[in-house]
Parts: sequence; C-alpha cells; structure tokens
Amino acid sequence: MGVLLLVDAAGRFERTVTDGDIRRLMLAGGELTDSLAGIPVAESVVITKRHSRRDALEIMQAHVINHLPVVDEDGKVVDVLMRSELDEQVLLSTPHMGDAEREFVEDAFRTNWIAPLGPNVDAFECEVAERVSSPHAVALSSGTAAIHLALRMLDVKQGDTVFCSTLTFAASVNPIMYQGAEPVLIDSEPESWNMSPLALERALEEARREGRLPKAVIVVCLYGQSADMDPIMDICKRYGVDVIEDAAESLGAKYKSKASGTFGRLGIYSFNGNKIITTSGGGMLLTQEEDLAKRARFLATQARDPAPHYQHSTVGYNYRMSNILAGVGRGQLKVLEERVAARRRVFETYRTELASVEWLSWMPEPDWSYSTHWLSVCEILPDAPTTTVDVIRRLADEFIEARPVWKPMHLQPVFENFKYVQHSNHSVSDGLFERGICLPSGSNMSDADLERVVKTLRSI
Ligand SMILES: *Cc1c(COP(=O)(O)O)cnc(C)c1O
Repeated sequence: MGVLLLVDAAGRFERTVTDGDIRRLMLAGGELTDSLAGIPVAESVVITKRHSRRDALEIMQAHVINHLPVVDEDGKVVDVLMRSELDEQVLLSTPHMGDAEREFVEDAFRTNWIAPLGPNVDAFECEVAERVSSPHAVALSSGTAAIHLALRMLDVKQGDTVFCSTLTFAASVNPIMYQGAEPVLIDSEPESWNMSPLALERALEEARREGRLPKAVIVVCLYGQSADMDPIMDICKRYGVDVIEDAAESLGAKYKSKASGTFGRLGIYSFNGNKIITTSGGGMLLTQEEDLAKRARFLATQARDPAPHYQHSTVGYNYRMSNILAGVGRGQLKVLEERVAARRRVFETYRTELASVEWLSWMPEPDWSYSTHWLSVCEILPDAPTTTVDVIRRLADEFIEARPVWKPMHLQPVFENFKYVQHSNHSVSDGLFERGICLPSGSNMSDADLERVVKTLRSI
C-alpha cells in the first residue's frame, strides 16, 4: 500500500510511517539500520467513524496525505483508505468496446474509406436490419437525426401536430420543433412507464373532434423496455395515424418476441456513447418500406438529384453515418447479446441484493416485455425515510453517479405551453420523475462496483 502502520504491543495504532518520514530521517543523519523509534514524533491523521468517500478525500487533501487509517473504539486499525482508490467513480453508463471494432475501423483506414459512406456503412445497415428482422435500415449521424428524417418523410410541417411520450429525453421532441410542428405530450402508464394507451386514445379522440389529428405519434421505449405496442398500434391504425418508434434506448429489447423498434412505420435506434452499444455518436432508421429507406438516404445526403451537376429540388441534410464509425458499430453489434445479458444481470443483482430495502421499488417488466435494462431504475417510495434528492446526494458522496428519471417534457420550460394528456386523473410521469432514480448500469461494471452501490444504498 506504500505505507507502514506502527502499532503498540496490544495492536493499538500509534502512527503511520511513509517514505517521506524515512527520507527525512536519513536527511537528518539517520541510517537505514536505525530503529523507527528515532523518527521525530508526529501525530498521524486517522478517522474513527464511517466517512463518505468525498469526506475522506477532503481530509487527505487537507493534510496532504495519501493514506487514511480507520481505527475502531479500541484504537485498532480496521481499514486503510487509499487516495488512489477512493476517487474511482462508478458511472451511470459508459462505452464498452469489444474485440472486433478496431479491425473494422482499421479496415476503413486501410482502404481509405474515410467518408459518410462505404462498405462498413452498408454492412452495418444489413447487419442491424437482419439482427432485428427489419427489411431496411439506414445508418445516420445520430438518433435525433433519425427522428427528424422520420418526421420529414411523413411530411410533418408547420401547423401539424405530432404526439409524443412525455417521459423521455428532449431529443424525442426537439425534431418536432425543427419541422415547425406542435407537440402534444402523452403521459405514461404505470405498467411499463411508457406511453399510456388510455391517454393516447383520449388525446386522439379529442383531436378528431377538433379536426386536428396528428401527422404522427412518436412512441418512446424507455430505459430498454418496449411500450405496450399492440394496443398503441391498434389505436393509431383506427385513427389512421403513423407511428414512429423511438427505440433509441431499447435496441435488443423485445415486445412479445418481436424486436423493439420494428413496430412503427418508422423506428429509430441511437448509438450515442451512453447507449447499450455505441459508435460514439450515431443512429439508425428502420422501416419496412423500401421507398422510405431510399428517400431517407437521399435526404440524409443533401437531397442531390440525379444529374451530372449539383442539382437540388428539395431541402436535404448531412445526416449520414461515417464509414469509420459504422466500423465501430459492426464490432459492437457482435457483442450486443452479451451487453444485454450483462445489463440484465446488473438489474437482477440490485433487485435481489436490495430486496430487503422496503422503500425501494423496481421498474416493472410486464409479461410481454423483454427489457434490456439499459438503465437500472428504481423508485423511492413515498413513505421512505429518505428522498430521491438525498439518495442521489449520498451516492454522489461515494462518487457513484445516479440520476433522476427523465424530467417529463410537459414540465420542461421549453415545452410547458404545449398540450399534455394524462393517463388518468393523476399524472403518472410526474410521480415517476419525483421518485425515480437511475443507478449505474454499465455492462462493464465490476462486481466491486456493484457491491459499492448496493452497500451505499443499504447504508442509507
Ligand atoms: C439518446 C436518445 C435519443 C437521441 O439519440 P442521439 O443519438 O443521442 O441523437 C432520442 N431519444 C431517446 C429516448 C434517447 O434516449
């Protein structure tokens, strides 16, 4: 550990001896054969009770020391905290590379395919499409770009409305604004935390009465879990409204054995750095219709008409995925199944290890759902002896990153003036935001990391 602890005959702590102490002894004329008793008396800093990592680190910083012994009531050392270990963070969700990514990337370099097209892009599209049994997939620069293109292809424009789940990340709703359309935000249901079919139907009925049916419904599949797609698809079909499935967080998840992301007319995945697999930044658009896939590729590459010169008859975007990043994606796709298994294991570990904590309740997984548990999410129940804010702060004191559940879009200053339709006479998403906490969930978490989170929650 780089430190020596001196104890008396009864094993009680006397002081620490560091390399600095010995150096000072030598500089003062000491010899290596001298007894440690010759070292000038100094009182070592110790702690006697449990401190948070943050507090312990502050003590070390204040005293310019790298080791901090913990002594019990009898003065015996029970632990030694080391600065180099203390400040290790346990993060929410970090990239987890496999073995094959580098090869695909190197291939792109070797062949000089350093462009937003190339063999890795084509292969990545085919491999994702095959993987989720979708006829077509279009690789894009981000999940947000994929949602934007989906809206554009359904001809969403100024004056239109688009329904969207309220409990989500802002990227689900922002593209509606890019198109100058108006979002209507739909509450969650308690069973899966995703879009409430009840609220959706009520909102559609009202819209029909007003003669303002939406151009599309964006259904978000949250934290690795599909929404209840059968009733949602039925309802939308009855009203003749297209569904865009925002499966950014749920690649690898299933709804009744069919891949999440493949239910709507269009579906999207994200390969952002924190998602279950990543290309550092990227997205994918899925569809069963070949002409939609073709049009997406056309719009994503500046909408260039076939002509010998540069000709454009509609507004396009620069939204294609780079061939280098698609190489990362191909490697990641090979380990998707392992990543899903690892994330599910993280969730199961929390749930079993914390089963005795009565004030914690875990994100439900209905019979029809196979969730990837992209994030492990729990609720702090209303009668708990603590609060969501306090739990997050206590975890942060142990350098464990935890976050509240997404703040619903109808509560966001930027969207608060848009219409919001609740599940029932109370808002489900408001409650989930107040009580929900996302815990560290990475597929690369060590058992020690997991134990640290579990121990901290138990100590609370
Ligand atoms: C991450 C995410 C997005 C956006 O994906 P990017 O690739 O980061 O643009 C959209 N919707 C949801 C629900 C997300 O979690």
